[in-house]
Amino acid sequence: MWAAMPSAGPQTRALPPSERVSPLRGEFVDAALEQAFRESTLPRVLSEQRTGLVLWAALMIVFVVPDYVALGAVPNFWILAVYRAVFALMLLATVQVLGRRPALALRGHVLMGLALLGYPFFFLLYGLRPEIRSFNTGAIMVIQLMLFLFVPVRVTLAAPVALFGAVGATLGVWLTTTEVFVKVGTAFLVALPAVLGYAAALRQQKTERQEYLLRRQLQEANRELQDEVARRVALQDELERHASTDVLTGLPNRRALGERFATESVRAQRRSEPLSLALMDLDHFKRVNDTHGHAGGDAVLRALGAMCLRSFRGADMAARVGGEEFAVMLPDAKLESAASVMQRFIDQLAATPTMIGDQAVAVTATVGVAQQQAGEDLIALMARADAALYAGKQAGRNRVVLALPASAASAPG
Ligand code: GH3
Ligand code: MG
Ligand code: MG
Repeated sequence: MWAAMPSAGPQTRALPPSERVSPLRGEFVDAALEQAFRESTLPRVLSEQRTGLVLWAALMIVFVVPDYVALGAVPNFWILAVYRAVFALMLLATVQVLGRRPALALRGHVLMGLALLGYPFFFLLYGLRPEIRSFNTGAIMVIQLMLFLFVPVRVTLAAPVALFGAVGATLGVWLTTTEVFVKVGTAFLVALPAVLGYAAALRQQKTERQEYLLRRQLQEANRELQDEVARRVALQDELERHASTDVLTGLPNRRALGERFATESVRAQRRSEPLSLALMDLDHFKRVNDTHGHAGGDAVLRALGAMCLRSFRGADMAARVGGEEFAVMLPDAKLESAASVMQRFIDQLAATPTMIGDQAVAVTATVGVAQQQAGEDLIALMARADAALYAGKQAGRNRVVLALPASAASAPG
């Protein structure tokens, strides 16, 4: 018998209530989200509205000419011409206002208010210029579509304005003709683009908002990713620092020394500069441990680490390479100058006791110094320094001994 596996359902994510888009208004239910969305569309909406208004004003003025040709300078012409001029000026003034207060464009009330004011002109045309009735109806159809499609703002505002346009046009025709077919046909013609426009604009509004949500999710995910990358880089740095640092003294460890040596050695050979390495071992350190305990010995090692960090700066690098053994890499130093740097250091060490409890404990160290020879790697260089260090221990400790060149060291006899 098999236990029923939990089946993975369809991978759909229910929108949280705040991200829901109203099905008939085509706007986010959440007011703050809707506001944020509209603000994100401001540049486009603003330029669309201003362009639309300028075009509208131009059309209002241009059609003075056919009016004049058809009517001549009769009172009806002048009524139309004044209406056209005043309305065109209003449109242009609105363009100016939107330039100064762009936020007005977002709500859409200004544009729809103008449409409400502009419509009666066309209703009037049915009475004043009955001979262009069908042309006028066509113009109203275009405006109905424009309300929704060309300068799309909000269907909630455009729908009542379009309804006003449809009713007004129907009334205009109803009062100026007796033909039933024309009356019904006009009503149909002006209502149709309003309905189509509403449906198309509603769909566009919903799509725009879905895209907006996706864009936001993408940005959010991107931000999280960047944070995560930054966290990991920091972690990586931290790990690298840990991996290359000695915990007790805070000095670089053998691994870090090896890495630095690799670059310094290449550089030194390319520039034909000297590179020296010193190995330092504390003298009779077992006694320190025996007398003052392991913790006391640790304190001495820590003090020595601090002293190294203070004394060797810049290009030089001191590292802890063993229990109480340290290496100092000295780029651009010949054997003799490296030796004198190290002599100064152990003199200072001997003169600087460490306090363990209430006892001042001074330690000395023995140093072997070697200068890198052409093509010599770190192991070979260290081996020569170590041999010199051993010689220093044999000779009585607390001294710096210069390593022999590799050829002399390996020469028989
Ligand atoms: P020498 O002068 O010949 O070097 O004598 P030494 O006593 O220093 O001898 P050696 O270098 O062989 O001994 C090193 C001692 O250092 C042995 C070990 O107990 C001690 N030691 C190594 N690492 C640590 C450490 O991390 N802390 C402490 N407290 N002691 C350590
Ligand atoms: Mg030792
Ligand atoms: Mg020692």
